[in-house]
Amino acid sequence: MGPGLYIHVPFCVRKCAYCAFYSGPVAPHRVRDWREGIAREWETLPTGFAPATVFIGGGTPTALPVQDLLWLLEQVRQLGGSAPDGHNAPPDALSEWTVEVNPGTLTTEKAAALRTAGVNRLSIGAQSFTDATLHRLGRIHTANDIRDSVELARAAGFDNISLDLIYGVPGVTRDSFCADIEAALALGPDHLSCYCLEIEPGTPFASEVTAGQLTVDEAEQREQFDWARQRLTAAGFTHYEISNFARPGCECRHNGLYWAGGDYIGIGPGAHSHWQGRRWGNTSELPVWKRAFDEQLEPRTKACETLVMGLRRLAGWRREDFVAVTGFDYDELRGPEIARLAADGLLVAEPNRVRLAEDALFVSDTVFADLV
Ligand code: SF4
Repeated sequence: MGPGLYIHVPFCVRKCAYCAFYSGPVAPHRVRDWREGIAREWETLPTGFAPATVFIGGGTPTALPVQDLLWLLEQVRQLGGSAPDGHNAPPDALSEWTVEVNPGTLTTEKAAALRTAGVNRLSIGAQSFTDATLHRLGRIHTANDIRDSVELARAAGFDNISLDLIYGVPGVTRDSFCADIEAALALGPDHLSCYCLEIEPGTPFASEVTAGQLTVDEAEQREQFDWARQRLTAAGFTHYEISNFARPGCECRHNGLYWAGGDYIGIGPGAHSHWQGRRWGNTSELPVWKRAFDEQLEPRTKACETLVMGLRRLAGWRREDFVAVTGFDYDELRGPEIARLAADGLLVAEPNRVRLAEDALFVSDTVFADLV
């Protein structure tokens, strides 16, 4: 599969209480600075760069004023060169073009602009269908705004829609989370991402934890995760990555590239890239972002990272695929650790495949820490 392109749009209407992504207010001078930076970075893309997947994330891409959104879409379309009729076409090689959407920021005009440009997948940040939970999370929207966004998207012609949900929010009962899942299913999504609430340093939620006003109940989080797995699997979704569920054929290809050790370039503040054995990351700042780091990876280091990334998929790694991607056998890299984790019931090591055990899905980070 060809490479991926990620573009970070660092604007949100308001900051959510749990969020540590780099984003700030949509002010005209900030959008202008960001556009200038994106245009500069665009010039550094490798000659002939033809992404197979594009993911425009944030932040809230749909918080951009429509003329700035159109400008960004045109930048991506120009990677495909000019079609014979003089119009710019989406890149030929492009099989999946996703844009993140937050309810309350999608309009008919923006939905039509995205679809007309060639965007073929929307990832909608629903998070919950309970207004009290949305309020607690600091979201700008209500449950009905999510339904409106899905309706707008479908009316614009989108037939590949993903919804994000958050589970394990303190104070949110299992019944309430189960109702969120049912409400999400009622909208007929093709893909669902269920993320466990993480307390990120520097967020209002982190301050509440420090002040003793908020306590995370990990046992409850695990119950909610297990329930989501059972319910979504019963509804015909495949649980294919720790946090991701898809109808057959609707797995996210762009994220699949990250998990398979593929090449990708990220542009925008805070974006990261992996390109031909090199990796770099941008600082999270405006008006001008810089390289925070830029390093050539040792092949073994890159292979260990690829091992961990690929184990996020429930199918794990087939031995031949891992050798084909990295040039190493995973047993040569981490044989003793894999054997020990398998003996502890956290990995399943078959003759030709290694994958996370079901019991380890919720505690995958501790498994990965032993393998990097
Ligand atoms: S909308 Fe998304 S990116 Fe923006 S503050 Fe909320 S969680 Fe963070």
